[in-house]
This record gives sequence, structure tokens and C-alpha cells, in this order.
Amino acid sequence: MTFPIAIIGTGIAGLSAAGALHAAGLEVQLFDKGRGSGGRMASKRTEVGALDLGAQYFTCRDRRFAEAVQQWRDRGWIAEWQPSLYDSANGTLRPSQDEQIRWIGTPRMSALTRGLLGDMPVRFSCRITEVFHGKQHWMLQDADGKAYGPFNQVVVATPSPEAAQLLAAAPKLASSVASVAMEPNWAVALSFEQPLDTPVDGCFIQDSPLEWASRNHGKPGRASQPDTWVLQANSRWTRQYLDLVKDQVIEQLYGAFAEMIGCTVPEPVFGLAHRWLYGRPVGNHGWGALADSSLGLYACGDWCLSGRVEGAWLSGQAVARKLLQHRAS
Ligand code: FAD
Repeated sequence: MTFPIAIIGTGIAGLSAAGALHAAGLEVQLFDKGRGSGGRMASKRTEVGALDLGAQYFTCRDRRFAEAVQQWRDRGWIAEWQPSLYDSANGTLRPSQDEQIRWIGTPRMSALTRGLLGDMPVRFSCRITEVFHGKQHWMLQDADGKAYGPFNQVVVATPSPEAAQLLAAAPKLASSVASVAMEPNWAVALSFEQPLDTPVDGCFIQDSPLEWASRNHGKPGRASQPDTWVLQANSRWTRQYLDLVKDQVIEQLYGAFAEMIGCTVPEPVFGLAHRWLYGRPVGNHGWGALADSSLGLYACGDWCLSGRVEGAWLSGQAVARKLLQHRAS
């Protein structure tokens, strides 16, 4: 008897896998602990508009990903972002030589994952705490003790530390997953009454607590917001100040930004901090995806490949291929 495939995580990796399996005629059921899709590509709705606090844009190197990107652009889910980019090092700002093409979801980052989700069945605000074997098939349990299933296979598409716990029923697989550590990142949004007098739209930053700053409202589709900037701290600083209260994180990163940006920076009229506990994987792994196909347990995510949106999407495709190959064998 066939049952649906459970997919835990509606970030770009989980949605990539779900889309490929759905297109192959299989029934999928998605779960996410968040209130919406996107994971680290999600946008936060605030009084100053939707803010991209995680992935700022994505680039495209792989041919298969390039084909998907063109389709998403044709559907109006993404647009090219052509920022005035700068590099900041040792207190000096210089125009960046980086000429990569950059894509963003429009009018907010999560427009892409919302489009990819389409009408596939999903349960949000549902934190899965256990994947366990029922009589013959897989079952899931959530944080409230509610059980879901049966499922023929389970794809875990969460950051590696969360995936390792969920895959405890497959100890070898879980131990490979657990070998990938993930670094945290603080992100802060600041709004100013008047636009800052700077040509910078986005800046790669060294020698500072910050590694990136960008003008959120300068991105396509976000023009009506006040002058809001998103600042991202590097993982070294974040590790050091992991448990700092949010007001102090805002204050310290505001100070670092004011020092770096090279123009007068007034007191912000709005500030918000968000901590990504599992922000980026450490190192690049060429795994594509991981599986214990005989058990029917699978894992994908950016941590299997490049630690970027592109890597996460490719990992979702790789996990779907593995699962389909096993079903065909
Ligand atoms: P995620 O997006 O993390 O998705 C995992 C999903 O699983 C989440 O929705 C989560 O809610 C859900 N989940 C987790 N545990 C459970 C559970 N127990 N039960 C149910 N659901 C669960 N990449 C780029 O290409 N360009 C950038 O500019 C860029 N900037 C970044 C900036 C920051 C601050 C961060 C943190 C990341 C950035 N990245 C960037 C990386 C990019 O965001 C990720 O590579 C990509 O979004 C990862 O997608 P994913 O699907 O693998 O994981």
C-alpha cells in the first residue's frame, strides 16, 4: 500500500524536493515549525514593511538551477537586483568589482517559496520532534504529542543539528548529518526617518562585527518602505554575543554600521534584531543529499552542498532523485 511522503521543512530545499516528487506523481505532505514557508529565506512582516532578515539575494552557477531561475522570473516570483555594491575593509569604503547577477524574491524574499509551495498540502506551526516507525510505516510526532502518518518515506529538510535529532531512527545517517556544524548570525533592521545620504545599496564588510549591510527598501518591489537597512553580524561576533539581549545587539550593530557607512547616521526610528541560531553550515560538502534508502529516511539542505540558496535547491533535487531511483529499483 502506498502512503504519502512526509517532508519536514519548507525552506527552499524542502520545497525543491517536494516539487520534484509532486511532479513525478507522488503524494507529499509538508510540515514546518514556522508560521509560513521560506526558513532562512523568509521575510518578516513588520510595521515598516516586509524585511529580508535571512538570505539577501541569491546567485546562480549551476545550469539546472539557471533553468529554474528563468521560470521563476517569468512567473514574476523573483527579479534581478542591481545594487550599487561596495566593499568595506579597514574603515575604507570602495565600489565593489563583483559583477555577479543577483536575484531576489519580489515583493519580498518569501514570494519565491510561497510560489513553489503552490497548493501542496502543508501544516505550519507544527514542530516535529520525532520520526518513529509505526507498524510498517513512518510516523511523525509534534511538540504537542500529536502523531501524523503513516508515511512511506520521510525527507528531513531542516538545518543539520535539527535533522540529526529527527533522524535518530537511522543512527549512521544521523551521525553523518551531525558532523556538519552550523554557525549563528545576528541580523538587525534599522529604519531612519530620512534616507541616509550614501550611494551604497549593499556592502560586504570586513574588520567589523558586521559582514553585510543593505538598503532593504532599495530592492525591487519594496520602494514604499521608509529607509530601512538590514545589517548582518559575522558568525565570530555572533558566537561571542549569542545571548546578548536584543536591545544591546541593536545598539552595538548600529554603532558598527555608523562607523562603517561613511555618512551621518541619525538615531533609528525603528529597530529589530533576529538571531539565526543555525545560520550557515561550516565548510562545503559535496554530498548532494544523504539517505538511508532501505529505511526510507532522507535528508537534504544547504549543509549538504554550498551553504547558499542555490546549494539548498540543488540538494532538494538530489534527494528527490535518490528517492525516485530507490522506488524504481
Ligand atoms: P532552511 O531555510 O533553514 O529551511 C529549513 C526549514 O525547516 C525552516 O523553515 C524551519 O522552520 C523548518 N524546521 C526546522 N526544524 C523543524 C522541525 N523540527 N519541525 C518542523 N519544521 C522544522 N544564501 C544565499 O544564497 N545568499 C545570501 O545572501 C544569503 N544570506 C544569508 C544570510 C543569513 C543571515 C543567513 C542565516 C543565511 C543566508 N544565506 C544566503 C543562506 C540561505 O539562506 C540558506 O542556504 C538557505 O535558505 C537554506 O535553505 P534550506 O531549505 O536548506 O534550510
